[in-house]
Amino acid sequence: LEDQVRQAQKLEAVGQLAGGVAHDFNNLLTVVNGCGELLLTDMAADAAPRPLVEDIVRAGQRGAALTRQLLAFSRQQMLRVEVFDPNRVLEETAKLLARLLGEDVTVRTVLDPAAGFVRADVGQVEQVVINLAVNGRDAMPRGGALVIETAPVDVAAADLPASTDARPGRYVRLAVADTGTGMPPEVQAHLFEPFFTTKPPGKGTGLGLATVYGIVRQSGGFLTVRTEVGRGTTVAVHLPRHEPEPAAPKSAPRPKPRATG
Ligand code: ADP
Repeated sequence: LEDQVRQAQKLEAVGQLAGGVAHDFNNLLTVVNGCGELLLTDMAADAAPRPLVEDIVRAGQRGAALTRQLLAFSRQQMLRVEVFDPNRVLEETAKLLARLLGEDVTVRTVLDPAAGFVRADVGQVEQVVINLAVNGRDAMPRGGALVIETAPVDVAAADLPASTDARPGRYVRLAVADTGTGMPPEVQAHLFEPFFTTKPPGKGTGLGLATVYGIVRQSGGFLTVRTEVGRGTTVAVHLPRHEPEPAAPKSAPRPKPRATG
C-alpha cells in the first residue's frame, strides 16, 4: 500500500502540472478561437481563405475540449469549500444511489449523529461517495448490500497509513462497504493508479479511485482500504473534523494574563 500511495502522490504532482499548463493553454485558445470566429463573421462566404480559417477554429475548439478534460481530471476548477454536516449530504446521496444502482443492490446508511462537521467541497464529497458506491456495485454482479457509514474517530499517529501528509487528530470517517468480490493483492497494489482498471473497455476508466485519492488528499484527509476476497471491501475516507470556534465567554471574562517575573 505504501508504494501505491507514493505512486499516486507522484501522479498527483504530474496532474497538478498538467492542470497548470492546461489552464494557460485554455487562455491562449480563447484568443485563437475568438479571433478566428471574428474573422469568419467578417469574411464573405466564398472568400478563398475561408476553409483555412474554419480549420483553425475547429482545431481550436478541439483543443479547448481537451484542456477542459485535463482540467477536470486535475481538479483545477473552482473549489467551493464550506463547513457542513456530511450526514445531511450522505442521506441525500444514498437516496440517489438507491435509484442509480439498481434493484439487486440494497443501500443502507448508518450515520452517527455525532460524526461532526467537515470543511470541504460538498460536490467533491458527493463525487467521492458515488465513485466508491459504483465500484461496490460493480463488485457485486449478483447483487448485495452497500452500507454507507459515518463516525467520529480519533486518529493516533500509529493509525495513519504510511506516506500520508495527514496528521493525528479528530476525523470524520465516511465509509462505503460492499459484500462483493473483494480484491486480490495484485489489484490492491495498483488501486489508486490512474487508468488502472480490471473492468472491460467502456465499463471502467481507471480514474475513479485516482480521483477519490486526489480529492481526499486535497481536503487534508486520508483513505484506508479493508478487503477480503469473496467477502467484500470497505473503503473509508477520513476527513479532518471541523471543530467549532470556542464560544466567547459571556459572564466570566477570561482572566487577564498576569505579568510574572
Ligand atoms: P474503474 O472503476 O474505472 O475500474 P477505479 O479507479 O474506480 O476505476 O478502480 C480501479 C480498480 O480497482 C477496479 O477496476 C477494480 O478492479 C478495483 N476495485 C475498486 N473498488 C473495488 C471494490 N469495491 N471491490 C472490488 N474491486 C474494486
